[in-house]
Amino acid sequence: MRPTTLLYIACLVLVFFTSCSKDGDFNVFSVQQDLELGQQTDAEIRSQPDEYPIIERADNPAAYDYLQGMVDDIVREGQVPYADVFPYQVTLIDRDVENAFATPGGFLYVYTGLIETLTSGDQLAGVLGHEIAHAAERHSTDQLTQQFGFSTLVSLLTGGDPGLLSEVAGSLLSLRFGRADESEADARSVDYLCNTRYAANGAAGFFEMIQDSPQPPAFLSSHPNPGDRVAEINARAEEKNCSTETDDRVAFRDFRDSL
Ligand SMILES: [Zn+2]
Repeated sequence: MRPTTLLYIACLVLVFFTSCSKDGDFNVFSVQQDLELGQQTDAEIRSQPDEYPIIERADNPAAYDYLQGMVDDIVREGQVPYADVFPYQVTLIDRDVENAFATPGGFLYVYTGLIETLTSGDQLAGVLGHEIAHAAERHSTDQLTQQFGFSTLVSLLTGGDPGLLSEVAGSLLSLRFGRADESEADARSVDYLCNTRYAANGAAGFFEMIQDSPQPPAFLSSHPNPGDRVAEINARAEEKNCSTETDDRVAFRDFRDSL
């Protein structure tokens, strides 16, 4: 076959089988594959208790009621995409690390070290909204599409390499998002929280607080370019006329003290 013919077929394949993220980024993975990658990464995390010492729900059900309840509120009231496909399930990791992260397919993780530094449920909701957005906007597989390129596309579509999803999943835990994805996750955090009882600019409260921290927290190394994020988040909340009234702090303190 002539190269131009091959290219033509490839384009047809692209049109029929690939998906675009809601933000219009080109993404060769299907939504179902986002979920599968998340499930594999979650299993990977759970198989490394030294690196990821997980607090099981059975060991602190009240904490999970609070935390998962907050995620459920945000997903339901924020009308988060793929709520019928992704579990949007949150897991606590018992380490003194000021960070939170999400896999594709809506598996969320929050370190107790991050929660210790927060002073309100709004800040936590802001961080959760931001992480939910990375999953809902499919930022990880957008990036993997760029990273692994055309050969991944062909192998995934034809099923020619069954080990490929595992290989791709293995690279997820070291993935870093760029400025555009961070800005988008900040904006979506405002959008999602706008419909909830949490302050829509909760993420700004979080950034303001960690900027004052004597040592830069891990969140900033995996979430670069704090720049004008506080101002941008506040501006979006105002522009959309979202409530920035603060949530009751007592429930948050009870949660934090239980960890
Ligand atoms: Zn982020």
